[in-house]
Amino acid sequence: MNKKYDYLIVGSGLFGSTCARLLTDKGYKVLVIEKRNHIGGNVYTEKIDDIDVHVYGSHIFHTSNEEVWSFVNRFAKFNNFINSPLANYHGEIYNLPFNMNTFVRLWPDVKSEEDAKRHIEQEKLEYGIKENPKNLEEQAVMLVGTTIFKKLIKEYTEKQWNKKCTELPPFIIKRLPLRFTFDNNYFNDIYQGIPIDGYTRMISNMLEGIDVSLGVDFLKNRDLYSSIADHIIYTGPIDEFYDYKYGILEYRSLVFKTKSLDIKSFQNNAVVNYTSHEVPYTRIIEHKFFNDKNQNTTIISEEYPDDWSIGKERFYTVNDEKNNSLYKQYLELAKKENNLFFGGRLGMYNYFDMDDTIAAAFELVKNISR
Ligand code: FAD
Ligand code: UDP
Repeated sequence: MNKKYDYLIVGSGLFGSTCARLLTDKGYKVLVIEKRNHIGGNVYTEKIDDIDVHVYGSHIFHTSNEEVWSFVNRFAKFNNFINSPLANYHGEIYNLPFNMNTFVRLWPDVKSEEDAKRHIEQEKLEYGIKENPKNLEEQAVMLVGTTIFKKLIKEYTEKQWNKKCTELPPFIIKRLPLRFTFDNNYFNDIYQGIPIDGYTRMISNMLEGIDVSLGVDFLKNRDLYSSIADHIIYTGPIDEFYDYKYGILEYRSLVFKTKSLDIKSFQNNAVVNYTSHEVPYTRIIEHKFFNDKNQNTTIISEEYPDDWSIGKERFYTVNDEKNNSLYKQYLELAKKENNLFFGGRLGMYNYFDMDDTIAAAFELVKNISR
């Protein structure tokens, strides 16, 4: 029997939408279904009072991948936003990522790179650091010493993950840049920016001419949608797809408290991290600062870490040994499927930046449409 579509794509996030565009460009007939009532997955932005609100947390596009950068530039014009977050520790303000601006503020005698390195080395020595860091605390002290660890890392990280830094894997902290120049750019990539008309417009341009059905949960309509296309790309949670038969993959969740304020600006910066445990949220996002807008009002979101359980929004994967090996069991099932492919952060159970997500979609489409 001839099926109506060549590909059914479950999920209209960045992974699903990239696959949909690439496969359509290759001449395949594609249907995208999405269980939420909007496209875009977690990069979705909503225009409120002429401000693009990042509904699922702040999203800053950054990449060094030329192919990915030219792909997204087909669908959006990007501004020249550079992420330069601040940290607030009991009212003291520091620059992030850790760089000379942070060091001179922390240690008033620091005038040069050598001075900063001397402080860090001295603190490592006092801590008694070992060669191969076994946990996040050791990794952090090895990189930046104990003062920065105590003021800017320990309590923030413990709030974020609800675990002690000695119980967390070192890799979490490794993606934060450390520099001995006066440079507050949070990322090291060649390209960075925010789509001028918001991420939702970018995704809707990506999906132009493609059939999209919103408010449709594949798992509640499995029979109908399994027979509608020759191939399925599934970007929802892999364990849920298999009815959690081996167990539940863990996540961290977040709750955003968003407020409209009748003032021009609240914090004069897009992102301010609150690194002490006395403040219950990890950061405040002031959305208008992602774009160069001059509105008279502003919108902020406080970001509260939350324990995840089924029914809550999945944000961060917890890629420890236990969850990674559970994921491998599901992956073995996935490998046995015919014409069914898993992708994206939920399907592949990993934290992917947006550019990694797009690159992974490129890879899948290359492999399956050979
Ligand atoms: P998703 O966006 O989650 O899309 C999956 C879609 O599938 C969802 O829309 C979902 O509703 C749908 N779906 C699931 N199950 C079903 C079903 N059964 N039926 C129908 N539809 C279904 N990356 C950056 O590069 N820069 C950043 O600054 C950045 N900030 C981030 C901040 C936070 C708080 C988080 C958690 C991530 C951040 N990321 C950032 C990463 C970015 O969010 C991801 O790379 C991207 O969203 C992954 O897209 P995806 O399509 O894999 O997943
Ligand atoms: N982190 C920290 N202090 C900060 C910001 C980040 O200790 O002010 C740590 C924290 O452990 C966090 C990790 O660095 O989980 C990665 O932070 P990043 O901002 O890259 O991640 P995001 O939460 O934005 O995905």
